[in-house]
This record gives sequence, structure tokens and C-alpha cells, in this order.
Amino acid sequence: MVDDCIFCKIIAGDIPSSKVYEDEEVLAFLDISQVTPGHTLVVPKKHARNLLEMDETATAQLFARVSKVAKKVEAATQAKGMNIISNMEEVSGQTVFHTHVHIIPRYSDQDELAISFTEHEPNFEQLAVLAETIKNS
Ligand code: 5GP
Ligand code: ZN
Repeated sequence: MVDDCIFCKIIAGDIPSSKVYEDEEVLAFLDISQVTPGHTLVVPKKHARNLLEMDETATAQLFARVSKVAKKVEAATQAKGMNIISNMEEVSGQTVFHTHVHIIPRYSDQDELAISFTEHEPNFEQLAVLAETIKNS
């Protein structure tokens, strides 16, 4: 438990939350600001800053629960689809520095979540170099 961490406080029950799933490793609760109805956060009980600081075992445990909770949210909301997002560090929009995965049900491409991927012409030489660099890291 990290004293000044809001999600550690939610996990400890010191701050109330609308819980949708809980087990020994993980808690899932509704995001207070509901980007779309059913917007849920899945959080490991053990504090970590974000996914980049977690090992593969802890990440696998977390994502097993993301799968379970996403299907429960889908069944409950009848959403047409969903986005699953985890922000890591300020540059990506992370504001709470305790790992969390957003499950955001989608009802229409005109709803309150806007994600845009800028398209670029592929440069196959650069792709090959980059792939090799990542493979060897
Ligand atoms: P981030 O921007 O770090 O990816 O997402 C943090 C999320 O936590 C935001 O969507 C925000 O609405 C949510 N949040 C922040 N404080 C609280 C809180 O006290 N309770 C709940 N349920 N959600 C919170
Ligand atoms: Zn924490």
C-alpha cells in the first residue's frame, strides 16, 4: 500500500468505489468519470506504477481478469464493442500512477471516446531496422 495512492486507498476500502469484480489479486470498479456507460478500471491489488514496471506473471494475471471483466461489462451493457487501454506515463495521458486497465464500452463511433491513428506511407527499410532493434532489445 502506497500512502498517497488513490487506487491503493480504494483497494484498502478507505475510499468508496463501485466495485464490479474482486479476487485476491485484482479489483475492478467503475471509473468515476464514465467516458461511456460501463467504463471500468481493472487494477492489480499490489501497487505498481504502470504495466512497464510489472513482470510477465503479474501482467498475465491482470489480463486474465481484464478478459473476464470485459465480457461481464459487455453482457451487462449490450455494448457494440469496446476499447481496452492502459496509459503509461504522463506522455500517454496517465494521471493515476497505480497500474490500471480501462475497459471502455462503445455504443457508436460518435460516442464520447475519440481515438485517432494518423496514417503514414509505409517505409519498409525503416520497418525492418526498427523490428530488428526491438527484437534485440
Ligand atoms: P489515467 O488517465 O491515469 O489512465 O486514468 C485514471 C482514471 O482514474 C481516470 O479515468 C479517472 O476518471 C479515474 N479516477 C481518478 N480518481 C478516481 C476515483 O477516486 N475513483 C474512481 N472510481 N475513478 C477515479
Ligand atoms: Zn497504489
